[in-house]
Amino acid sequence: MTEQTQGKFKGKHAVITGGGRGIGAAIADALAAEGAKLTLLGRNEEVLKAKAETLPAALPLSCDVTDQAAVEAVIAQAREAHGPVDILVNNAGAAHPAPFMKTSSEQLQSMLDVNLMGPWYCIQAVLPEMQERDSGRIVNIASTAALIGYKYVTAYAAAKHAVQGMTRSLALELAGRNITINSVCPGFTETDIAFDAIENIMSKTGRSREEAIAELAKHNPQKRFIQPEEVASAVLWLCEDINRSMTGQAISVAGGEVM
Ligand code: NDP
Repeated sequence: MTEQTQGKFKGKHAVITGGGRGIGAAIADALAAEGAKLTLLGRNEEVLKAKAETLPAALPLSCDVTDQAAVEAVIAQAREAHGPVDILVNNAGAAHPAPFMKTSSEQLQSMLDVNLMGPWYCIQAVLPEMQERDSGRIVNIASTAALIGYKYVTAYAAAKHAVQGMTRSLALELAGRNITINSVCPGFTETDIAFDAIENIMSKTGRSREEAIAELAKHNPQKRFIQPEEVASAVLWLCEDINRSMTGQAISVAGGEVM
C-alpha cells in the first residue's frame, strides 16, 4: 500500500462501511484523492479487494455490520494497520420496498439491523479513541427517507429516521469535544439500490424501463438521478477540520427535493 503524500486528509484514517461499490466506493475515491488512508468494510470480500486495488492505501476487511463482535474485531484490525480512526462514514445500507401490511417483523428487523444498528455498532467501536483524542468526524449516509415519507418503504424510512434521531442526540452528547456527527441524505442516486427500485416498478406495474426511471426521477425537482460523486462531495466537506460547527445536521443531496 502506497500512501498519498498530499491532500486535505493526508495521513487521516477513514473507515467506510459498504466501501466496495455504489456511494461508498465514490466516497473512498474522494477521500483517497485527498490523502486519507482507508479501511473499506462490507460483506463481499472480492468486491472490497477489487476496489482497494484501485486506491493508494486501502485495507479491505470483510464484515457484516449487523454483527457487533465482527465490527469490533475489524475495527481493531484497521487500527493496527492504519492507526486510530479519524473519520467514520456509515454508508452500508439496504432497502427492501414493500407495502406496510406485507412487511413482516423480520423484514422490519433486518432494515433496523443494517441501517440503524450497523452505524450504532461502528460508532461504538470507534468513539472511545475519538474521545481520548478529542477529535473525530462521523458521517452517516441516511436518505431523504430520513426526513420525509415515501410510499412502500415504511421499514426503511423508519430505520433512516432513527439514524437521524441518533445523529442529533449524539451530536449533543459530543458537543464538548471536537467530534462531529452528521447525516448526508441523498435522493435517488444511480447505484444498485436505485436499479433494484427500477426493476421493482417494472415488475409490479408493467411499465417500461424509461417509464420506471422517470417515475423515480420525478421525486427530484431537477428530474435526474444523483451521481455517487455528488454525495461524496458533501461527505468530504463535513469531514474537514474547519467544519467543526457542523454537527447534528442532515444535509440533503437531492436537487431540492427536501428543503
Ligand atoms: P449499494 O447497494 O450500491 O451499496 C450498498 C453497500 O452497503 C454495499 O457496499 C454493500 O456491500 C453494503 N452493505 C449492505 N449490507 C451490509 C451489511 N450487512 N454489512 C456490511 N455492508 C453491507 O447502495 P448505495 O451505494 O446506493 O447505498 C449506500 C447508502 O446510501 C445506503 O445506506 C443507502 O440506504 C443510502 N442511500 C442510497 C440512495 C440511492 O438512491 N442509491 C438514496 C438514499 C440513501 P456488501 O453487499 O458487500 O455487503
